[in-house]
Amino acid sequence: MTPISRGNASPTVERFRQQNEWFATLFDGMTDILCLKDPDGRWLVANQACLELFDLVGIEYSGFSAEELAPLAPKRAAYLLASRESDRRTWDEGRAYSYEWVVPMDDGINKLLEVTKTPLYHSDRSRKGLLVVARNVTDRKAAAARIQHLAHHDSLTDLPNRVLFQERLQDALAQARRHGGIAALILADIDNFKEINDTLGHAVGDQLLRAVANRLKRGVRETDTVARLAADEFALVLTNLTDADGAGRVAESILRNLTHPYGLDDNEVMSGASLGITIFPGDGEDGPQLLKNADLALHRAKTEGGSRYCFFVAEMDEEVQRRKAIERDLHFALNGGDQLSVAYQPLIDLQTGRITGAEALCRWQHPTLGAIGPADFIPVAERSDLIFRLGRWVLHQVCMQLQAWKSQGLPSFRVAVNLSPAQFRHPGLLDMIRSVIEQTGADPHQLQLEITETIAMRNFEYSVGVLRNLRELGLTIAIDDFGTGHSSLSYLRHFPVDKLKIDRSFVLDLDDHPESGAIVRAIIDLGHGIGAKVNVEGVETADQLRFMNDHACDECQGFLFSRPLSPDDYAALLAAEAPGKKDEA
Ligand code: C2E
Ligand code: MG
Ligand code: MG
Repeated sequence: MTPISRGNASPTVERFRQQNEWFATLFDGMTDILCLKDPDGRWLVANQACLELFDLVGIEYSGFSAEELAPLAPKRAAYLLASRESDRRTWDEGRAYSYEWVVPMDDGINKLLEVTKTPLYHSDRSRKGLLVVARNVTDRKAAAARIQHLAHHDSLTDLPNRVLFQERLQDALAQARRHGGIAALILADIDNFKEINDTLGHAVGDQLLRAVANRLKRGVRETDTVARLAADEFALVLTNLTDADGAGRVAESILRNLTHPYGLDDNEVMSGASLGITIFPGDGEDGPQLLKNADLALHRAKTEGGSRYCFFVAEMDEEVQRRKAIERDLHFALNGGDQLSVAYQPLIDLQTGRITGAEALCRWQHPTLGAIGPADFIPVAERSDLIFRLGRWVLHQVCMQLQAWKSQGLPSFRVAVNLSPAQFRHPGLLDMIRSVIEQTGADPHQLQLEITETIAMRNFEYSVGVLRNLRELGLTIAIDDFGTGHSSLSYLRHFPVDKLKIDRSFVLDLDDHPESGAIVRAIIDLGHGIGAKVNVEGVETADQLRFMNDHACDECQGFLFSRPLSPDDYAALLAAEAPGKKDEA
């Protein structure tokens, strides 16, 4: 904009001149692009930003139309000519009209302008002019796009998150419904992620997740979706499949890809995954149902040992229903009545042949289903908070029984109580045990706790702390089902443990697999090496007993001696072998 020239002006003219100068400064100082055209599209006035954009700085433009300006501004000629169309449209509509204009700049980066054209009218509605304002919205748009991206993507892997995954799943199902196609949903979970995270640290865990995300993306088509739903849980939506086997083939190739070692920092990490697959149509009507069923299939793949995929089958849902029923009934049983009880399986000292104690095993006599084994209801209880109530109930029962036996004049012996992994991890464990001991007056030295190997080894420092505290209370510790987990021998050395219990599966295998004998021998040596006693579970035959005797095992339990007994039967057995009685027999 050019200010009018100075001269010998009157005060009014001088004021007008000054005002005009201010307006010109203001107009040119605007970062928005401003231009005023007459009703025929001729440029009247444009600010500095506008002239720069059109490369018209220093060029006389006022009074020229787009056709006349185009040869003067070759860089923007095409736009100048094209913009006549939006001028026309603005006049036709009779109100402000906006659109976006992508402007290629000299540095190769595009600018995004939001252009608004507003028609101006005289009071008699005749056309006065056209105001054009264009604003640079490049950054704002980029920020909005970034926010949009963040809201729909996982920040660690940049994969779609649960929100976007659900949208994509909806779309895939809608498409399959329209065209009669087949879609598949695969849930994938890294098998040993927690261990890797705990032992190698979160930074390596994060690297692993990114590497898994990349391998998953490489294993599917562009049109398929790979999303991260939770810590180490990923989901894939496969579309346009010709049959369900197609999903199986993708699952196989994913498993292959994921089992190659990962080089993370200085570590070479091996990891597998478990996959659960649901197919649409067939396995569910909608997204939530497919997801739920894929989760059941995933759970099955995990319980079958991991590093595999499972298709959903209807029985899995029945399994869930059964679990829910057990949970409900167990809840009821814990509220009172006599459905629950504790059985005591004698532990035999192999040197003396005498009973040295017992393992307490929970029993449940269901009113309609009959006896339900702990292997069926403990895992259900573990999936809910019921395990804490059940665990406390068993311990309380055992402590009261110890007191009852004491008052009956039975000699003092130790009873082992099983602790489930969830109980062991619970921060209130020590308080719970202390309060039960206080309430019942039982002697803590008569209590042994059995924990499984895997739970002890997971989170080593924490476990050692808990075990030390338990020992300070006077309890002793046994590691149950030893040999089935993945104990690190170097860790075991530092473990405050009093007894190793060799898992029953090795005893079962003794006849058929000579290597089981070698393992049993090694565990006995190992136990003695760390100053612990060694027990063997599940001895059913005289041959098995001989083997254990020959290899200096300390203690055994099994059906060969006795099944788990009611408290009275246990007391009777103990009384029968009391010194004096035994000799008479
Ligand atoms: P576990 O702690 O390893 O207990 C030993 C299991 O082996 C018991 O099964 C016992 O009856 C069985 N057994 C002992 N000797 C023989 C034998 O010679 N042959 C055979 N075939 N089996 C034998 P049970 O009572 O069914 O308990 C199964 C598992 O349930 C236990 O394994 C333990 O992990 C869990 N459990 C039992 N009671 C409790 C409890 O009160 N709390 C918790 N957390 N878990 C419990
Ligand atoms: Mg046990
Ligand atoms: Mg066991």
